[in-house]
Amino acid sequence: MVTKPQQAPSHWDREADVVVIGSGATGMPAAIVAREAGASVIVVEAQPHIGGHAITSGGNLPLGGGTSYQKKYGIEDSSELFFRDLTDWSVVENNGFPPYRYNDREIIRAFVDNSVATFEFLLAHGVKVIDRPPNSIGHEIGVSVPRTMQIDVGDWPMVHTGKPADPRDPEIRAGAGLIRPLEAAARKAGVEILLEHRMTAIHREAPRSGRVTGIVVDHNGAARNIRARRAAIVATGGSTGNVNFRRMFDPRLTEEYCGLAGMPWSDQDASGELAAMDIGAALWGLFNYTGEFGSGITKPGAIGCQYGYVNVRWHPGSTIFAKARAIGLSVKDWQNVILVNMLGRRFYDETANHFGYSTYLSVNPYEPHNYLNAKNAKYNPSNFINAALAGIGDGHNGGGPIWAIFDAEAVRREQWQPTPPHVDREAGFFFSADSLEELARNIAMKYQRVPMPPQTLDDTVARYNSFVDAGKDADFGRPQLRYKVIRPPFYAAWATPVLHDTRAGLRINARCQVIDMNGAVIPGLYCGGESAGGFSMHGLPRAICQGFIAGKHAAAENSNG
Ligand SMILES: Cc1cc2nc3c(=O)[nH]c(=O)nc-3n(C[C@H](O)[C@H](O)[C@H](O)COP(=O)(O)OP(=O)(O)OC[C@H]3O[C@@H](n4cnc5c(N)ncnc54)[C@H](O)[C@@H]3O)c2cc1C
Repeated sequence: MVTKPQQAPSHWDREADVVVIGSGATGMPAAIVAREAGASVIVVEAQPHIGGHAITSGGNLPLGGGTSYQKKYGIEDSSELFFRDLTDWSVVENNGFPPYRYNDREIIRAFVDNSVATFEFLLAHGVKVIDRPPNSIGHEIGVSVPRTMQIDVGDWPMVHTGKPADPRDPEIRAGAGLIRPLEAAARKAGVEILLEHRMTAIHREAPRSGRVTGIVVDHNGAARNIRARRAAIVATGGSTGNVNFRRMFDPRLTEEYCGLAGMPWSDQDASGELAAMDIGAALWGLFNYTGEFGSGITKPGAIGCQYGYVNVRWHPGSTIFAKARAIGLSVKDWQNVILVNMLGRRFYDETANHFGYSTYLSVNPYEPHNYLNAKNAKYNPSNFINAALAGIGDGHNGGGPIWAIFDAEAVRREQWQPTPPHVDREAGFFFSADSLEELARNIAMKYQRVPMPPQTLDDTVARYNSFVDAGKDADFGRPQLRYKVIRPPFYAAWATPVLHDTRAGLRINARCQVIDMNGAVIPGLYCGGESAGGFSMHGLPRAICQGFIAGKHAAAENSNG
């Protein structure tokens, strides 16, 4: 909740040269760079722990333009090539969406010119990458050369298990290998980190003019004023967790999309965007918010729990397991379930995936900035997400819950344990019954806005079973039909799409200074990462790099005291 900005607080509770709001991929580099440039730095973090989405991340790190690892493995790259790639209007995904067309040239130029230095900064501050050739994992990193390195999590405990990684574990979350070394470097340099300090407003000399002078934070219900003598940096991680904010861009994203990737470790509540807009900031590059590319909205990877993002299982060893409530059932093979909407009807081929994304070699052959790229694109769109969000035709904008329906045989094949802590029965994300009709009657939770008609679910399953007998899905063309749904007990597990990235936010310039609605710099205010606009790219690289840029320029501001 953003409170109204106060122009001139009667007193400052704390002060520093630079105040960084958020301790994730943008905030930590920003804090270190500003501190090492001689500024005193306070980081405020809303959560009781640091790291934001960055610490939950897989640690794929696509920074390019000629990094030491690219050179070591003979990959020729340059900032010019990187710039050309990230502004190539002619590249389209397999659904026709252009990932780079609406990128702001000034912001991309700043990113490519600082990409190598950002990578070397990470290495110099204790972050390790696995020594192997850069690869093509990572989204929207250009199609000319491989650029992605993998952060080495080492012995750092991972936040989803509470334990160090087992190298055989397919679910390694390497984000701890990014954030923990940066935290150590920041503390060693003298950065102060204030946990459970949620920024609620930004102070400016006048509501729409003058310098930013500090921020208001909420700490255990008490408001405190923190003065930023030189600058404040918004590093709050985006807005897809704020239902009203995200619906400005896509009205379909109603409240049932309640299991964001990275939650419940941290949220993307738009607090940075809203506080900056309250003092006049503009938004930017809004096409990228709704562009159907990359992992903006994903199928869940685990079902039967609220937080089922494809690559994260929250385990009881995690410090936040009480908030996550269940591990979820990891789906190895979507042939073991059918997916139905609130009315118990199938809506798409369950084995289909979410949107595609552009990366090295995803357009091949590739002619930079040539219309032939679009002409030669191999169209193979999956409309799974759009079909899930389409809903039941009752006038509601969002698609409502999607349920995975399966039987006892599926449980055996997948080796699932349909009991807590694997599933969340108590909060209504998992149900079971001895008949399909009873199962439909049991499904009751706050987002199931109409009851599922028992006969419809029965008919849907019977029709699907007849497709398995016939070897052909006459409704949705699902390939290789393998298993019928016949043996009780029957189960219904939450399988609603998951929101992931925020790809548009505050308008910034090449220095990461926030720009107002008249195109003027708001003095003393910076922003980077998922709360910044103008740059369509998934994940860590733009956030870390913009933190690096913002920290440098924020520290060089003249004091407003
Ligand atoms: C599960 C998962 C896996 C991912 N894997 C990868 C990957 O392998 N490679 C990749 O490149 N990217 C990956 N990403 C994306 C990447 O982690 C994010 O894009 C990146 O962390 C964004 O950085 P940020 O600084 O904008 O936000 P964050 O890292 O989320 O940091 C924002 C911080 O601000 C805090 N905050 C928010 N509001 C306030 C407030 N009002 N006051 C104080 N603090 C506030 C939040 O609590 C949070 O700690 C992944 C993301 C997730 C969720």
